[in-house]
Amino acid sequence: MIRFDQSGMMIFPTPEKIKRAAKLEELIVIKQCFCPDGHNLVSDQAVFDGFSGIVLKVKTGIDDGLVALNPVYGLKHRISFGIKLRKDELLEVLCPECGKALPVYSTCNCGGDLITLFLDDKHDFTNSLLICNRVDCNNAQIRFHNEVVNYDDSGNAMFG
Ligand SMILES: [Zn+2]
Ligand SMILES: [Zn+2]
Repeated sequence: MIRFDQSGMMIFPTPEKIKRAAKLEELIVIKQCFCPDGHNLVSDQAVFDGFSGIVLKVKTGIDDGLVALNPVYGLKHRISFGIKLRKDELLEVLCPECGKALPVYSTCNCGGDLITLFLDDKHDFTNSLLICNRVDCNNAQIRFHNEVVNYDDSGNAMFG
């Protein structure tokens, strides 16, 4: 079992409450992630069960606002501020600090874009958190040294 305590991620035992909700033995928590200009997107503007959330600026054709994502990988809670998210809408995802668009890694299987949040400030696509820009698409993955990180059937974090 690899436990990585590297920039951007830590694994530690799941608090009981979350463990019961998510059936996970261990949590992968995003502790920091960056825009192309190196701004940290993890912010205590939004806190989920004691963990600072990932705060992104989002735009639709008509509106803009902020979305906070649960930093616990695998948990899908998100909160929006100042914008009403409509089901299936595609969002433009920007850094709240500098307003730069976060780069697209690839196309999601829903037809949306997988947006890249860099896990270190080297802007390395092989160390990144990818999230779909479609409201209600739950596709998210972590690439760590280019391997996809996941939870196995018993809820432990694993690679590959
Ligand atoms: Zn920025
Ligand atoms: Zn998608």
